[in-house]
Amino acid sequence: MTLLSIDEARARVVAAVRPLEVEDVALDGALDRVLAEDVTATADVPGFANSAMDGFAVRSGPAGRRLSIVGESRAGAPAGVAVGDGTAVRISTGGALPDGADAVLQLELADDAGDTVTLRDAVPPGRNVRDAGDDLRAGATVLTAGTVLSPAAIGVAAAAGRASVRCARVPRVAVLATGDELREPGALLEPGQLHDSNALTLTALARRAGAVVVSAGHVADRQDATREAIARALEGADVVVVSGGVSVGPHDHVKPALTALGVREDFWRVALRPGKPTWFGTRGATLVFGLPGNPVSAMVTFLLFVRPALAALQGASAVPERLRAVLAVALPRHADRDECVRVRLHDGRATPTGPQGSHQLSSMLGADGLAIVPRGEGELPAGAEVEVEPA
Ligand code: AMP
Ligand code: MG
Repeated sequence: MTLLSIDEARARVVAAVRPLEVEDVALDGALDRVLAEDVTATADVPGFANSAMDGFAVRSGPAGRRLSIVGESRAGAPAGVAVGDGTAVRISTGGALPDGADAVLQLELADDAGDTVTLRDAVPPGRNVRDAGDDLRAGATVLTAGTVLSPAAIGVAAAAGRASVRCARVPRVAVLATGDELREPGALLEPGQLHDSNALTLTALARRAGAVVVSAGHVADRQDATREAIARALEGADVVVVSGGVSVGPHDHVKPALTALGVREDFWRVALRPGKPTWFGTRGATLVFGLPGNPVSAMVTFLLFVRPALAALQGASAVPERLRAVLAVALPRHADRDECVRVRLHDGRATPTGPQGSHQLSSMLGADGLAIVPRGEGELPAGAEVEVEPA
């Protein structure tokens, strides 16, 4: 049986996604949310010509002019008086340019005598003036649907006149680690036990992908307990992420539990290293992932398959743009699986982070991405170009 490639498996995941409903989100709570509408500027921003400097609003003209000061324009308090040939208005940064004025001379170039000011420099038209609409134009689309809202995007939405925006609902994720050997972080370990790291890494990855984690924990390798824990996880979650127990060993109960709970298998196993036993299925609109238990495999398969699902649920672009880099060192190729090698990127070069065993979680530290080493014979030489999935 030929296994699905990474891209084929990911396409199957994305095809199974039913986008979440949208809701109004106050801008104050919109960081990292995915915009579900285009945002247009309701008016020009800035809404009026104003000064880029503290100084004097004047009519353009030569240096050496002495003008009477007839008023003041401050940010939020226009002068209410026009500027003529012989007059100037004191102006602050952001103050509206008075009628009649077409330029501002900054304080540093003016001799301020209280009632009059002498201009020590020539003033070309438009000097130190910010035109109306030179940031955002009324009616222009300033943010598009699918944008993940950054601090700047939130600011632009506010400047554009919005107090709230339409966003996809935040996906709800349940995380469940399976394994008799697992103990809580910090617990004393008996022989053969280890600390459950997957529940934490998968929770953190889910949050970083814009989800809220509604439950996270672990369950022993018992058929009934596994089924009950997955049944609970399925309640109220849009996405269930199970780690471990998806292989074919006598203590791997996840697949039979999922089948018993009516989760329909879409695929099991991908031509990928690490991460071959990855399982994906659906129950109604709920997406269910069975990720391999090895800590690196769990993180890699989350990045490759769960992260795109969370993006697609929110209406964002599902597949992150892959970078290109050249290998700093030669890497062996796996005969029939594409390999995700954890790499650092520097100057367009990809350097493995260290030993790459699927249990060696330290190989994820400092990894900027996963270099995809395509399956094949022999090795990929240093200098070969590879695609890199951002981590
Ligand atoms: P499994 O996929 O259940 O066969 O587990 C594969 C390997 O990953 C085994 O060495 C497990 O001990 C380890 N492992 C499974 N789950 C976790 C976890 N939550 N945290 C850390 N290691 C795990
Ligand atoms: Mg296990």
